[in-house]
Amino acid sequence: MMNNLSVSKLPRRIEGLNELAYNLWWSWHIEARQLFKALDNALWRTTGHNPVKMLQQIESHRLVAAAQDPMFLKKYDSVINDFKDAMSGADTWFNTQYPHLKQHTIAYFSLEFAIHNSLPLYAGGLGVLTGDYCKESSDLGLPLVGVGFMYPQGYFHQHISADGWQEEVYEQLNFNEAPISPVLTAEGKPIIVEVPLDTKSVKVTVWQVNVGRAKLYLLDTNVEGNSQTDRELSARLYAGDQETRLQKQIIIGIGGVRVLRALGIEPTIWHANEGYTAFMTLERVRELVAKGIKFTEAINAVRATTVTTIHTLVPGVSDTFPRELIAKYLHGSWESVNLDTEELLKLGAQGSDNSTFSTTVLALRMSNYRNGVSQLHGGTCRRTWNHLWPDKEEKDVPIGSVTNGVHVPTWIAPQAARLYETYIDKDWLKKHDDSAMWDKVVDIPDEWIWAMRRWLKNKLISAVNERARRRWIEDHVNPEQALVMGGLLDPEALTIAFCRRFTGYKRATLIFHDFDRLKRILQNELQPLQIIFAGKAHPNDEHGKQLIQKIYNSAKDHEFGGQIAFVEDYDMHIARYLVHGADVWLNTPQLFHEASGTSGQKAALNGVLHLSMLDGWWCEGYNGKNGWAIQSDAETSNPAEHDNSDAQELYRMLEEKIVPLYYDRDINGIPHGWIQIVKEAIRSNTPLFSTRRMVKEYTERMYLPAAENKSPSY
Ligand SMILES: *Cc1c(COP(=O)(O)O)cnc(C)c1O
Repeated sequence: MMNNLSVSKLPRRIEGLNELAYNLWWSWHIEARQLFKALDNALWRTTGHNPVKMLQQIESHRLVAAAQDPMFLKKYDSVINDFKDAMSGADTWFNTQYPHLKQHTIAYFSLEFAIHNSLPLYAGGLGVLTGDYCKESSDLGLPLVGVGFMYPQGYFHQHISADGWQEEVYEQLNFNEAPISPVLTAEGKPIIVEVPLDTKSVKVTVWQVNVGRAKLYLLDTNVEGNSQTDRELSARLYAGDQETRLQKQIIIGIGGVRVLRALGIEPTIWHANEGYTAFMTLERVRELVAKGIKFTEAINAVRATTVTTIHTLVPGVSDTFPRELIAKYLHGSWESVNLDTEELLKLGAQGSDNSTFSTTVLALRMSNYRNGVSQLHGGTCRRTWNHLWPDKEEKDVPIGSVTNGVHVPTWIAPQAARLYETYIDKDWLKKHDDSAMWDKVVDIPDEWIWAMRRWLKNKLISAVNERARRRWIEDHVNPEQALVMGGLLDPEALTIAFCRRFTGYKRATLIFHDFDRLKRILQNELQPLQIIFAGKAHPNDEHGKQLIQKIYNSAKDHEFGGQIAFVEDYDMHIARYLVHGADVWLNTPQLFHEASGTSGQKAALNGVLHLSMLDGWWCEGYNGKNGWAIQSDAETSNPAEHDNSDAQELYRMLEEKIVPLYYDRDINGIPHGWIQIVKEAIRSNTPLFSTRRMVKEYTERMYLPAAENKSPSY
């Protein structure tokens, strides 16, 4: 049973707004967003596009007026109808293609879910990917439930001090104003499950989030009866020491399974998104053994129904633990069924000496379906994990790949959507993974593409200016900071965006390799270029913070002309402006370090051109005419030489190709050569790098064989 914190003052005629506010379906439907906006535009903005908060704060007379306004009611009825249709799910892809599998549930476990900004349960790419995945599963009708954490403080907000240092600001989420509801028992009490941890037991309660037809169940340890430390276990994403990290992974793994059981949900397929959630496999083994099934049979049964997706490259600190720690914390749950601790520890043993336990290794060993997130990354995974299958050659290591994609309705700009509606297909969104349909992009007049691109860049520059102004007015930042925040950006200048997590391998400062050359490129008065940076460094990543500082302080240099900006607090909200409004999306990772990357895919479907090393998804996406590849030709293993040669190549491409092409205009100021690439990017990338193509692939290559007990094909 679920109980909305219901908004009592809604007039009956429009009472459906309550259910709509509590289903994030609204967030990826333009008409639904506009409906809330039409209620009270100012409040829509000040609540950060949060309908739950808005309906609580709105003055009743506005609601009464809306309930009598024929224009509003017409929109209302249309949105509510669409919403009901969507919820019935009758003619979705999954129900049409696989009606016999409707009753099977797929449980999708992840530490992060980024659905909308009103629910800040994500740090970056992994979270956005899982959020997009849930939305698309809803659109396609997959019977999916998500299992994650309800972090009351989520991830931090980023402020940059006057000297360029990242400061982390944690905000407490007000649960009453978030689109979440407590999950209650039939008697109306919060559901509580217990998770054994060391010698004690931690209580976990559950929140529900509606994502269209899909549901998320979010675990929360802030429960009366838990010790203060345990209550704070789920307070923040990725905070705490090794022991805390392990406790969280145990809670989501074991607690996640127990929560689903308490809700009466019996998944057929269990999907571990990263190794962090791998303890769910051991809990399922424990359950089977408790029912009297032999250990080895239990293991096989769990493997046959588990999918593991790896997003990282190499085992890291967050998934590796000393075996003593594992034994200590899991002892309580294993003891009850007399499981052999040694046998269990072997399942996650990192090397031959069994001294460290890796949850990624556990996930790989406990699933029959395994994949990396791009073709290139699949190959890297086979190399990295070859030692787990010592009798196999690298090419035969049983790890495949499903390339990531982005949820098109979430990331498309409304202005682009309108163009596609007019010139490609009225129902383009319903069949956006149909490659043939996209051939019609060439029919869009260049003038209209250009008008759309200029409009979106204007919106981006205004949004960046507005953020700087707010910080100027409210926080009294100094003039230099207002400048670095983008105070001098020019809506007519060629705009490059570099927006992603700040960490060593992504080489955010590569473009600063030769200051003088970069200055010459930026300072060309007739062909100006500007660069917008955004992104957070992990709170413990000193080096990442130094990279931010270097860029921030360089931007103050008068000779850069105010044409370098650093936008604070990169999140889904500002990301939308950036992937809609930039001209060029830059990515310069060290080769083979980017597992997939998805922000460039968001950019491409809006006609923002990708300029990137041939790494991650771009290796598959680049076709020679839909953007640019920075070819790395240094024949050396010396990273400094690679940086040098990659930077030279980047400058050369900017000077010789990109800047001149952008400013090569006809008499009306339209750059036809540029627009040709824009059209090709939209045509070739949108269908392939959509979450729709991706969810269909997971379904056909992983979920169906798992449900029907067939072996995977790699
Ligand atoms: C898409 C997105 C990311 C991931 O981008 P990458 O290209 O994988 O670095 C990170 N953060 C936010 C807010 C995003 O929207």
